[in-house]
Amino acid sequence: NFLGKLNYGAVPVLTAADQLLPTSVCTRSIASILESRVIDYDAMDPEAEDAFYVADMGEIVRQQARWHKLLPRVEPFYAVKCNPNNMVLKTLASIGTGFDCASKGEIQMALDQGVDPAKIIYANPCKQISHIRFAAAAGVRMMTFDNADELRKVKGAHPNAQMVLRILTDDSRSICKLGTKFGASMSAVPYLLRTARESDIDVIGISFHVGSGCFDANAFGEAVILARKAFDEGAAHGFNFRLLDVGGGFPGNNAAGTGVGFQEIAAILGPTIDRFFGPEVRVIAEPGRYYVSSAFTLAVNVIARRVVPRDAVKTMTPATTASATTVSGPAPTRDDHPSYMYYVNDGMYGSFNCITFDHAVVTPQVLARSGQFLYGQSTLSQDVDFPCSVWGPTCDSIDCIGKNFSLPEMQIGDWLHFDNMGAYTMCAASQFNGFKKSAIIYTNTEA
Ligand code: PLP
Repeated sequence: NFLGKLNYGAVPVLTAADQLLPTSVCTRSIASILESRVIDYDAMDPEAEDAFYVADMGEIVRQQARWHKLLPRVEPFYAVKCNPNNMVLKTLASIGTGFDCASKGEIQMALDQGVDPAKIIYANPCKQISHIRFAAAAGVRMMTFDNADELRKVKGAHPNAQMVLRILTDDSRSICKLGTKFGASMSAVPYLLRTARESDIDVIGISFHVGSGCFDANAFGEAVILARKAFDEGAAHGFNFRLLDVGGGFPGNNAAGTGVGFQEIAAILGPTIDRFFGPEVRVIAEPGRYYVSSAFTLAVNVIARRVVPRDAVKTMTPATTASATTVSGPAPTRDDHPSYMYYVNDGMYGSFNCITFDHAVVTPQVLARSGQFLYGQSTLSQDVDFPCSVWGPTCDSIDCIGKNFSLPEMQIGDWLHFDNMGAYTMCAASQFNGFKKSAIIYTNTEA
């Protein structure tokens, strides 16, 4: 029972992202937190209409249990980059995951949680020398490389490093391809291993990353087979490889429509590892989105709207929607079949940067309408949906969350929610135009 191991101390509640870390969390359901925040709130509270997240640490714990069930041999090292939120790191550290860090700052974040340096892998093949020195001083030895220059840097800055060679695998079946930037081709492997041997640098194993949003589970199996070839090459160069790192790219829970599910990947990956690698080989992975995606729900307030009449919809372009073709005035009837432009208080410069950087597909759902709490309810039977676009709060026209949504008519002050918002969202959010990052309310639900 992982929940028993969680210990946050006392006093929780609401805190702005990246500000004060709450030291404990409540166990209320996500629905009840959303309801009290959007329905039963103090109207005089100046932050009452601000966008906010509900983050369920219990979901992270459940993902951990699922991981252990389906991939018992593979030790997860959480990819900090995906969501370096303190509460997330605290939760993961308390349930014993390792950490994949890409910089000095991320290593420090893991160390701040009391993580053993042996449970950290510095998984960035191209590192700044001062950051390598920092890792050496902190006792972090495992780090990846994919080029000979990196070996020379490590030789000077961290001679006791345990290097892991990141190989290039086929990422053509993934939405986010990482092979364009990192990974040594199999033809470069002998040269790199020779260089490491001549430099007296220890190479302890092989890593890969099939890319994120993988839509063919076979990509993981094929990558393991390539890693086996690289292991054999290692033996031929006198190395005793003992670590296989199968990278990240595992989908989050409920990540509908974004590729294959975790279960399908595990069904191929687990047996392929067992077939090609004996028990003497330690197997780790670097999951990011898998742990956090479904743990975060974002609620946004409709702060403004614009009604686009039916005839204008046909010819609507981004340039014209904001001016000539729009109207204000009496509310449209259903017969008018208007389109709506809704302006909400988090956008592309905030949490929704994931649309640009992570190729995320997001779907707005009605949370509260005309004071009615509708979370988890289908509004279809109650009302007609209209075509709409949803825009972020800044003055930039690229701040558009989506142009082709379909929602019942929303009024100013109503609420939308977006599920699965925990991965690559708030970590890269800016405060452009003076809009602060969305606050987070934490909970820790049980199953
Ligand atoms: N490991 C490395 C080296 C990465 O670059 C990334 C993501 O970019 C991850 C792990 C995590 O990937 P994901 O969040 O898709 O699991």
